[in-house]
Amino acid sequence: MLEMSGIVEDSIVDGPGIRVAYFAQGCPHHCPGCHNPETWPFEGGTPMDEETLAAIALANPLCRGVTFSGGEPFAQAEGFARLAGILKAKGYEVASYTGYTFEQLLQGTEAQKALLSRLDVLIDGPYQESRRSLELVFRGSSNQRILDVPASLAAGRAVEQTSGRWHGVY
Ligand code: SF4
Repeated sequence: MLEMSGIVEDSIVDGPGIRVAYFAQGCPHHCPGCHNPETWPFEGGTPMDEETLAAIALANPLCRGVTFSGGEPFAQAEGFARLAGILKAKGYEVASYTGYTFEQLLQGTEAQKALLSRLDVLIDGPYQESRRSLELVFRGSSNQRILDVPASLAAGRAVEQTSGRWHGVY
């Protein structure tokens, strides 16, 4: 079961293509300048089970990818790992935002590592207002990285996603 703050069924700003964006309720990072401070409290979300959430993407024939955002998806890692597993098995590209760095998640809980292992793409790091740029694609601040998760896990270090799709080139 996941506590959700919202779902956008046809997002074009949370990754390439038309994606379902799943917004978690609750975030421990409290970045100054955060655009979604209403997602910070861990209470007040809408509880939804993983099958119901997956069915939203599966019902959209235009959607081949999904993005987890928030809030902090890795604060509900067990549920998001389960959701990621359902969608990966159906061939979806699964991406997640996180306020943690990849290096922190490598040292995280078992559930956080399980979620990481089921992702294709991770946009990592907290939002830093001093490094904000409107020219960045799919990122708010330049400290954040768009990582190729399978390549990063294989290498044991952060490997940037080189596909043009994730850098505004189609
Ligand atoms: S991690 Fe994201 S949702 Fe959480 S405070 Fe930072 S910008 Fe806001």
